[in-house]
Amino acid sequence: MKTIVNGFEYFSPKTLEEALKMLSQYDSEEKEFKVIAGGQSLNLMMKQGILMPECLVSIKGLSELDYLNYDAKEGLKIGALTTHRAIETSDEIQKNFKVLVEMEHNVSSTETRNYGTLAGNFCHGDPGGDPAPVLVALNAIIKMASVKGERTVPAEEFTLDYYETVLGHDELLTEIQIPVIPPNTGVYYTKYSQILGDFALASAAVSITLDDKKEKCTDVRIVLGSVGSTAMRAKKAEEILKGKKITDELLVQAGQAASEESDPTDSVEASEEYKRELVGVLVKRVGKEALERAKKA
Ligand SMILES: Cc1cc2nc3c(=O)[nH]c(=O)nc-3n(C[C@H](O)[C@H](O)[C@H](O)COP(=O)(O)OP(=O)(O)OC[C@H]3O[C@@H](n4cnc5c(N)ncnc54)[C@H](O)[C@@H]3O)c2cc1C
Repeated sequence: MKTIVNGFEYFSPKTLEEALKMLSQYDSEEKEFKVIAGGQSLNLMMKQGILMPECLVSIKGLSELDYLNYDAKEGLKIGALTTHRAIETSDEIQKNFKVLVEMEHNVSSTETRNYGTLAGNFCHGDPGGDPAPVLVALNAIIKMASVKGERTVPAEEFTLDYYETVLGHDELLTEIQIPVIPPNTGVYYTKYSQILGDFALASAAVSITLDDKKEKCTDVRIVLGSVGSTAMRAKKAEEILKGKKITDELLVQAGQAASEESDPTDSVEASEEYKRELVGVLVKRVGKEALERAKKA
């Protein structure tokens, strides 16, 4: 089906195969086109004239990509059309990936979460997005497809720069895979924003795994949001905690290290210095909660 909407073409394929074929044709024709899912980010960019695609390929009709599958061995598989709201209200996710539900509560309003998809959020590549730090902390894998076939990349490698991802012009993100959370592991996420439901000034996701005696930290991932061009691992901060019995003092040190590793910029809401300070506070707080969860896991 082909329609013209306000001067640009609009396509609504009904199957993944059809959508990928369309994308491959446009790739060769070098027309400027965009994939649209819930439209929550794309519409804003178009209204502001930041993006002016000649064609839109709506994937809303691809019901085969609208699913949430959980398996105790393989973990969670989230189809590209799954909305924030579907994740937020899933009992299975609440039970097995509580941090995802907590993260979704932070994404704007219920209205936006009803339309917007997790995949669309991640593909948009906004460094202030809530999902990215959590997906990286949870070791998620991103599956993509084009007419040439499928490929996967770790969530950590998916976003390259501000609003830039590894997705090729002819590719769709089809699935987000989240492995089962290892035993003795706690994961937590929070953000700081001036207005409830607004984008973060800074955010942090922390995953901590303890040894069987629940004393020493065997693995840790500290991921920062909104303070760089992409969600970023604070690897020096992680080294401070790895292999140690985590204390409040060590969490303060990790926060300081993360603050130095972060790369925020001045904005109308807050200065670079203020955001760095926030990073230190968030890493300490989020790390403490992740540790408590790991002890109870
Ligand atoms: C008022 C408002 C407040 C918001 N506040 C927050 C917030 O606090 N935190 C937060 O994290 N987000 C926030 N957002 C962003 C929101 O979460 C995203 O707009 C939404 O999740 C994007 O999903 P979508 O399905 O609407 O994507 P779309 O807008 O349709 O697409 C976004 C981008 O991804 C591409 N795309 C989409 N799906 C695919 C796919 N499967 N494969 C390849 N490319 C694809 C599109 O081409 C486009 O470039 C806010 C948005 C609004 C409008």
